[in-house]
Amino acid sequence: MTSITVEHVSKTFVLKDRTIEALKDVSLKISEGGSVSIIGPSGCGKTTLLRMIAGLEVPDSGEVLYDDEPMRDTPPEERGIGMVFQNYALVPQWSAQSNIGFFLRLRRREREVPERVKHISAITGVGIDELMGKFPRQLSGGEKQRVAIARAFARDLKMLLFDEPFAHLDAKLRTQARVETRKLLNRYPVTTVFVTHDQQEAALLTDRIILMRDGNIEQVGSYESLYDAPANIFVAEFIGVPTTNLFEGTVRDGRWYGDTFGGFTLPVPIAEGTAVTLGIRPEYIHVDSEAGVSAKIQRVTPFFAERYTLLEVVSGEKSWEIKTEAQSPLQVGDTIRCRFVQDTMHFFDTASGERIT
Ligand code: ADP
Ligand code: MG
Repeated sequence: MTSITVEHVSKTFVLKDRTIEALKDVSLKISEGGSVSIIGPSGCGKTTLLRMIAGLEVPDSGEVLYDDEPMRDTPPEERGIGMVFQNYALVPQWSAQSNIGFFLRLRRREREVPERVKHISAITGVGIDELMGKFPRQLSGGEKQRVAIARAFARDLKMLLFDEPFAHLDAKLRTQARVETRKLLNRYPVTTVFVTHDQQEAALLTDRIILMRDGNIEQVGSYESLYDAPANIFVAEFIGVPTTNLFEGTVRDGRWYGDTFGGFTLPVPIAEGTAVTLGIRPEYIHVDSEAGVSAKIQRVTPFFAERYTLLEVVSGEKSWEIKTEAQSPLQVGDTIRCRFVQDTMHFFDTASGERIT
């Protein structure tokens, strides 16, 4: 197992009509045996960062180190990486067994393949051994991905790198694939970097999350820490489904006031007149018959399986969302009172976006 260090790595792609700064002075450290997910909007640099770690991209500046050794001169195939991509990347004219055995074959250890495959099947509880004689064209998407994952594990690994491996699977297969991968990672606790656009998947599969935006790392931490203590407005909005409600406002008499409501206590003293954005998650606004901000319901969406109903309400120009009980009796057009739970509120400096603590 290996630790990964990325030190001040920048990467710019120069196209005919423009240049793209895909990574802007990115630094991070993944400890030996640690697992992290990289999440963030499309185009924010996730794949570029993963490829940089793999050695498939060369940094313009900065450095990637494994176990504190610079990797500049080590080609990807000599780095002991298992990679799993969105498009499976199986060799079409090879059987599943040959695909899985590729790296062991390189080292003249192909005899070990059936034993390894049996082991992987036993851990995941899925019969990969039954697929061994088949060719990629004879496999479903889910089966191809299993073969690709088995290939990644069927070698002596220093690290595993995944790039949206389940993106093409339907919801049910994706759930299964996550569970199988979780079991494999538990059994083979190897340093893992997992790129996904799905935050639930990230939370399930890895200990830590790196949230990127526009070539930068915005925050690193557990899912809980990003959820409960977002560093800035971007993180607050990105993490959590449904998303955080945001209200622009200003500081008056030492308190926060929005356009139509306010008077909330701030966590620290802030200068009069400062523009401050209040963030509050839909589960922390309660429907109350006694007190709170008056608003009119304009949409009611039941999430039956998740056991809640999402209300979209409007007050003046502003609308927000509230999570309420399943089978809510409330209807479109009803006027309700919204009680904001004070100690769950986050306040952000509107100008910089940074959270005020
Ligand atoms: P993500 O995986 O987060 O969607 P990428 O790392 O693939 O993002 O891309 C980051 C940015 O770099 C995007 O704007 C993308 O278009 C650009 N980019 C990535 N690879 C190349 C490349 N080989 N040539 C030109 N631009 C690229
Ligand atoms: Mg990508």
